[in-house]
Amino acid sequence: MTITRRVSVERNRLRFAAAHFATFLGDCEPLHGHNYDVIVELEGNLTQDSWVWDFGELKKLTKGIADELDHKFILQRESQVLTIIEGENQWEISYKERQYIFPKSDVAALPIDNSTAERIAEWFAVRLQEALARQEAHNIKRLTVGIEEMPGQTGWYTAE
Ligand SMILES: [Zn+2]
Repeated sequence: MTITRRVSVERNRLRFAAAHFATFLGDCEPLHGHNYDVIVELEGNLTQDSWVWDFGELKKLTKGIADELDHKFILQRESQVLTIIEGENQWEISYKERQYIFPKSDVAALPIDNSTAERIAEWFAVRLQEALARQEAHNIKRLTVGIEEMPGQTGWYTAE
């Protein structure tokens, strides 16, 4: 029998409100926003004192990353579909006849090719992995992040 130990934190204060437009099949959504909820699961061995990971610490790390996206426009700066020009103080984004100029302070520019829930979950998981590595989380074997765009609609990413 294989034993899995898992802790999860989700929703409540682990959320962010952000605007975006994703692209699909060479087309581009209109600008809109979501109240995103974040779900994080950690699997691993128990520590000597029987923890997988401290809930409070995990919530703090997760909230810190969610706060980077809160009240921002999420820019997929590696997009192959949008034309993106980085200025000194602003991002200029165009798609066909549409053109947007956002002040940099309003933008979370992520190294992703599209602002889908799946890619946001991947970016989030990598950030969380780095934060856990800094805390020497050697017992953690698997990390999953879900980004729920709206109730019942979640993109997931798992790293082993
Ligand atoms: Zn959307």
